[in-house]
Amino acid sequence: MGEQTGPVKRRLGVMGGTFDPIHHGHLVAASEVASQFHLDEVVFVPTGQPWQKSHKQVSPAEDRYLMTVIATASNPQFSVSRIDIDRGGPTYTTDTLRELRSLNENADLFFITGADALAQILTWRDTDELFSLAHFIGVTRPGHILANPGLPEDRVSFVEVPALAISSSDCRARVAQGEPVWYLVPDGVVRYIDKRRLYRHDG
Ligand code: ATP
Ligand code: MG
Repeated sequence: MGEQTGPVKRRLGVMGGTFDPIHHGHLVAASEVASQFHLDEVVFVPTGQPWQKSHKQVSPAEDRYLMTVIATASNPQFSVSRIDIDRGGPTYTTDTLRELRSLNENADLFFITGADALAQILTWRDTDELFSLAHFIGVTRPGHILANPGLPEDRVSFVEVPALAISSSDCRARVAQGEPVWYLVPDGVVRYIDKRRLYRHDG
């Protein structure tokens, strides 16, 4: 009999974000990383009231959560977690990863993050703990350089994803100005934004 190796660990991607609204840049990044890193699942985790954005207006958590569900519902590999919303208060990625880890003891975590967010990583609290909780995957994003001195090489990977110059800020500005967001966000999300009159100053 050979060496006992134990069950193969699940490979769980984690895509944190404000998702205000979720757009095709998020979805392509998650899909591409899932494929390249052979992930079993990607869980999208909408933030609670985000501490880095608390000076700005952020849509209600329930709206951001529902848009994320609508956008991911048709993909059997994608799911959405309420942990950051239900915890309440500002979201710290260490808390997110710690909680996901205890909920998925038999999984390796892969935290997916855009180039802009990765650049800020060293300014987050508890970076040593962060890198012990998950492998970090930085994805290319138009307008941002994907490289970061000071990040531990064995805990961070870089991936090039098909470039989509889409941001939630731009989507919000377009809606506010009466411009279309069709094909920037999934159809169901366009309808949801309209139904709830999100991002309209006259709303
Ligand atoms: P905002 O403009 O409000 O900051 P955003 O478009 O950056 O919104 P977030 O919810 O802040 O969206 O992003 C969540 C994660 O997705 C971050 O890691 C971010 O870097 C990444 N991301 C967002 N847009 C893209 C994109 N077009 N390509 C690759 N990664 C992206
Ligand atoms: Mg952002």
